[in-house]
Amino acid sequence: MKAALALALLLLVPTSDRAAAATNDAEHYLDAFVDRSADPRADFFRFAVGKWLNDHPIPATERRWGIAQAVQDDTYARLLRINEEAAAGHAADGSNARKIGDFWRAAMDADAVAAQALHPLDDEFARIDAVASRDQLMAEIARLQRMGANALCNLYIFQDEKHSDRTSLHLYQGGLGLPNRDHYLDNDARATALREAYVEHVARILELLGAARAVARRDAERVMAIETELARASRKLEALRDPEANYNVLEVGKLGDLAPAIAWRDYFAAGGLPPLETVVVGQPEFFVQAGKSLQERPIAEWQAYLRWHLAHAYAAQGGGAFEAENFRFFGTVLTGTPEQRPRWKRMLDEEEKVLGDALGQLYVAAHFPPAAKARYEKLADDVVEAFRARLGKLEWMSEPTRRRALVKLDALKKKVGYPDKWKDYAGYDVTPRSFLENVKRGRIWQTDYDIAKLGKPVDRLEWEMTPQTYNAYYMAPNNEIVLPAAAFILPGIDDTEVDDAIVYGYAGGTTIGHEITHGFDDEGRQFDAAGNLTDWWTADDAKKFQQHAQVMVDEFNAYEPLPGLHINGKASLGENIADYGGLLLGLDAFKKTEQYKKGGKIGGLTPLQRYFLGYAMGWMSQQREEKLRSRLLADVHAPAKWRVLGPLSNIPEFYQAFGIKPGQPMWRAEADRVRIW
Ligand SMILES: [Zn+2]
Repeated sequence: MKAALALALLLLVPTSDRAAAATNDAEHYLDAFVDRSADPRADFFRFAVGKWLNDHPIPATERRWGIAQAVQDDTYARLLRINEEAAAGHAADGSNARKIGDFWRAAMDADAVAAQALHPLDDEFARIDAVASRDQLMAEIARLQRMGANALCNLYIFQDEKHSDRTSLHLYQGGLGLPNRDHYLDNDARATALREAYVEHVARILELLGAARAVARRDAERVMAIETELARASRKLEALRDPEANYNVLEVGKLGDLAPAIAWRDYFAAGGLPPLETVVVGQPEFFVQAGKSLQERPIAEWQAYLRWHLAHAYAAQGGGAFEAENFRFFGTVLTGTPEQRPRWKRMLDEEEKVLGDALGQLYVAAHFPPAAKARYEKLADDVVEAFRARLGKLEWMSEPTRRRALVKLDALKKKVGYPDKWKDYAGYDVTPRSFLENVKRGRIWQTDYDIAKLGKPVDRLEWEMTPQTYNAYYMAPNNEIVLPAAAFILPGIDDTEVDDAIVYGYAGGTTIGHEITHGFDDEGRQFDAAGNLTDWWTADDAKKFQQHAQVMVDEFNAYEPLPGLHINGKASLGENIADYGGLLLGLDAFKKTEQYKKGGKIGGLTPLQRYFLGYAMGWMSQQREEKLRSRLLADVHAPAKWRVLGPLSNIPEFYQAFGIKPGQPMWRAEADRVRIW
């Protein structure tokens, strides 16, 4: 109904009036965001987006609310229509439309989902109960990992860091139920209380599986003991960002040196892996501990641990009491969210994980015209050019490193909008009768899809995100930036209806620049033009880069979003450098536009002011205190407000745009400003 009305309006309004309407839209667009009562020189974040955040408090069903959720709400509405049409239609057996329709019908039948609970997994629970030896235990762990359970450790299949033309199996630390190691090891009152609540949650889930109260409590304590042991052996967030230290190639025959308790070849075979010669071990010391724990703890303790992790992996999809208890802990206790989101949104999230590309094909056909793709491909080229110019005149970088940096930039690949080749879901069998079964099959399908890559040439056309994702990424082994169609969506307006300052500041310049400079941040710079982990920097340039980067580390370490809880400057370094780089490159590209050159005001704001306001819109977000706390421990991205205040305080044009002077809160002394790019 709405779509038809919008189409009619477009056809009815003459083109000259449409142009006038566009100017009018641009004129007032920022009024919904900017808090004119705030002083940009005192708190730029509040000035830039304070009105919108005030007008849009966090809904009871959300742990945070902001730009990403506002855009996502539009995307949800579009995907809902796609699903309802697929469910009402009669598409051919095996077609994507049929899979989408069947998935949707099963997922939305909440009564049937609750009645089935976790029973589709009964055979798997019986296998856990029957485990009688350590070899059987490892075989069961392999089966659960293939089904998506986070049992003991993580197995990832992706491009080899030092041989980007082949795919390797990576063994990584894992096996925890809480978001990361610090949740187990921190000693403040909040962390201690959270751990107590977690043990109670594990116990309640085990009770739902049929255990008596006393047994469930005892087993939950066992789970906690095992996970704490694994957490102690796990690396910290910032240590995981050192690619060289997390790359240790071992022959499969030598894995026994790390963990003799594990029959490695049998374990891999039980998970459906082909025979392998070598694997990449991310954190060897973790596997030493995992092997010890496996050896020393009685099998009964591990059975409790596996029951928990299988139930945990499917509790959110199990409906009824499982879903409610899972939300009570992970939604309310851990992230402070009072109410569960509506089922249809959660089911779209589930579908996204297993049929994302099938939805993406339909989404793109309806919402990302060729003109949009061409526009952002051109913008990506322009932002690359801006970086080329900056690298060319960077004072601290010597010629040999500069030459290699430019070679890497020349080799950078750009993927914009949607993939040239879509995933083929032929092997994924969807039933209209069981949602849980569809989730399980989808996860196994995805694992097997990845396993099939081993030993084959790397498919460089692949995407790690779907086009309907409001996000973007840089992929080091492919030396590529990937910019999904939805990354460019502005809330409430078409991107052709606003001025360039907003488009460049928001995503068309800064997001593209952010991803490009990831290839040259503290982590990305360690990969060469071909995507291999190689040191191509002169020792002196590497040292200078680190000195410049240290200024950024110090800047973020000083931010204290919650009393006593600072941002981790080292763990968030790569993202902060990328935000800063994105702002610079977007600005360079924007300076070439007519709007910037002419300099006229729109809505009382200069082009430069509008550019920085467009950037702030991209990080417009507020979150619950619990979520913020957990995120400060487990996320390499700084909280949204500091992703605005932090990078901006290093940009000279920002001071110029808003007339910020020494002594004002937004002022950073010139000697303390970051100067990497
Ligand atoms: Zn990033």
